[in-house]
Parts: sequence; C-alpha cells; structure tokens
Amino acid sequence: MPRVWNFSAGPAVLPEPVLKGIQDELLDYKGNGLSVLEMSHRSAIFSSIIKEAERSLRSLMSVPSNYQVLFIQGGGTLQFSMIPLNLNKGGKLGYVTTGVWASKAYQEAVNLGFDAVEIASSKDDDFCHIPTYEDVDFSEFDYIHITTNNTIRGTQYQEFPDTGDALLVADMSSDILSKEVDVEKFDVIYAGVQKNIGPAGATIVIIRDDLISENLVNVPGYLQYTNHAKKHSVYNTPPAFTIYAVGKVLDWLIELGGVSTISAVNDEKAKLLYQAIDNSSLFYNKVELDCRSKMNVPFTTGNSELDSRFIARAEEAGFINLAGHRTMGGMRASIYNAFPMAGVEELMTFMKKFEEDEQNNV
Ligand SMILES: *Cc1c(COP(=O)(O)O)cnc(C)c1O
Repeated sequence: MPRVWNFSAGPAVLPEPVLKGIQDELLDYKGNGLSVLEMSHRSAIFSSIIKEAERSLRSLMSVPSNYQVLFIQGGGTLQFSMIPLNLNKGGKLGYVTTGVWASKAYQEAVNLGFDAVEIASSKDDDFCHIPTYEDVDFSEFDYIHITTNNTIRGTQYQEFPDTGDALLVADMSSDILSKEVDVEKFDVIYAGVQKNIGPAGATIVIIRDDLISENLVNVPGYLQYTNHAKKHSVYNTPPAFTIYAVGKVLDWLIELGGVSTISAVNDEKAKLLYQAIDNSSLFYNKVELDCRSKMNVPFTTGNSELDSRFIARAEEAGFINLAGHRTMGGMRASIYNAFPMAGVEELMTFMKKFEEDEQNNV
C-alpha cells in the first residue's frame, strides 16, 4: 500500500527519510546490539542522542547560550500550568486568547488561582484575526502569553508584540521551526513536538537561564523547570524514543538547508493552497488575509453535507485527516514542515476536480 497524503494536525506526517532511518536502526542502534526502544536513559549512548538533539535544535534556531533547552513530557498542555507556576511573581499574568489552545492556557492559569487577565482576544469574530493591544500597561504583568500559530482556526502571528517590562512567553506548538524567529525576543518558548518536530511524547521548552527559579514552594518537583535544567532533561525517565526521533527530524531539517530553506517552501505551499481556495467558487476561508496560518489551512463550502462528501471522496483518493477540528467542522489541511509540496499540488487538483463534478451534477 502506498503512503497516503496525511493532513493530520498532530501527531502529524514525518519526513519519509526519517522513518526509513529509524527503521534501519530499530533492531540495532549503530552497532550497539540493541534498540533505542530498550535502552537505559542513563546510558552513554542515550546521553549522546539527547545531547545531539539539543545541539541540533540550538543550531537550527540559533538559541543563545543563556537559554536552556529542555525536553519535558505532558505536552503543550502541561506547560499551561508549568508556565504560571514557575514564572509568576505575584503580579498579573496576561493572556492573548486567539483560539482554543490559547484560551485553555488562560483558563489553566485561572483555575490555579492566579490573577490571569485576557489582555486581548479575537473570540468575538470567531478567532478569525490576531488582535493588537497597544494600550496595555505591561509593567503590571509578570508575563504576556501568546500562541504564535492557532492550529484549529488557522491564524498565525506575522509579527510579535513588544511587551516592554513583561516577559514574553510563546506557545509555538504548531509553528516552531517553520520560519525564522529571533529567540532573544522571547523569554520562554514551548512547543509539543508532535506537530512540527517529531512523534508525540515530548515538549521542548526554551527558557532564559535567569528565569529558572529554585525550590518553589508547593510545586511538585516534576513541574519545576529547575529540576529538568539541573538534570539536563533526565530528571526522571524521559520519552527516549521520541527524543531520538526528534533528533532525526532535526538532522533532516539541517541537511535540507535549515529553517530559512523550509520557511521558503512553507511560504510557497501555503500560497498555492490559499490561491486555490480563493480562486474557487466552492471553497472559502474566512480568516483575515494578513493573519492566515501557513501551517493549518481551514476551508469549507459552507454546507456541512457537501463538506462531508468532500472529505469522504478525498479519503477514497488517498488524502486523509482533512476534516476540520470537531469544534469547527469544515476542512483543514495541516501542511507542516514534513508535508511535501507534491501533496499540496495533488490536493489542489483534487479540489478542482471535485468542484467541477459538483457543478456538472447541478
Ligand atoms: C496541539 C496544541 C497544544 C496541545 O498539545 P498537547 O501536546 O496535546 O498537550 C497546545 N497548543 C497548541 C498551539 C497546539 O497546537
């Protein structure tokens, strides 16, 4: 059976050479006579695997040396609580709610009893734009939390806000490594790896050294960044195989030419797909033009029955996971780094054919 075009929003498609590389090494990792799946996380071999993954990420993102790179479990979701628990200084915590995940991050801080404030939101227009917020007094806030790419609605920051005295914390789960960002503009960046950097099981946290507090009171050990930093991401048993696979994806990206190369490919894939949607008389995307995501492209016919027919036919033709998030309906094509240009082109051809067939049926 040939591989399908997998438009999943996450866990998402992985580069084929990475899967093959993992297959080659599965039974015997580099002549050691055992698999990474069965290795001690304290072994010298795994130690070099995790160090190498960190080194690759640092090089791809030009992470300054005064930032820690940590691999933690619990997904993006656990960061929704680790961020306020570790970074609050007793002041207000600002959240920009640009979608479902951003709202969950805010809600978690509220649930934990912090003074969390929605400083801006795009809820009123169904999250179809990225709001601006110039008149906020940032000095009142310990940090401002943003979500750089909104996976479900398909919006993305094109420029990042200046938050003055307040720290800037970013959930980059669905667009990390998709385009160049200046890490120094941020105080903390986090991302679950299963969208753009690997299989599920790990979250990357990039945090400035001086923000890592020691011995927080009433905070479980696992939830304190200091413990992960001191133990170089092996505070307890880490998701070793995921970290190994992440390393492979990072190597693939380096070999391809790095973030600037993939960013140009991502620009082109998104441009083509949005053009196909905009030129169609059947499909549309209602996100504001200058806020469109290059990673997640939602579209719909506006008719749920027709959308379902499109999704079913697409699946028969080998395009899977095109259904929009259950809260949104319609379609969504997630076209992360590993999703090939050829798949975008074939989807465009399929959409055109579907539209013609529908017109002929009327
Ligand atoms: C998927 C996603 C999350 C949640 O990730 P989990 O790893 O499932 O906890 C958080 N934020 C964003 C922007 C996401 O896309």
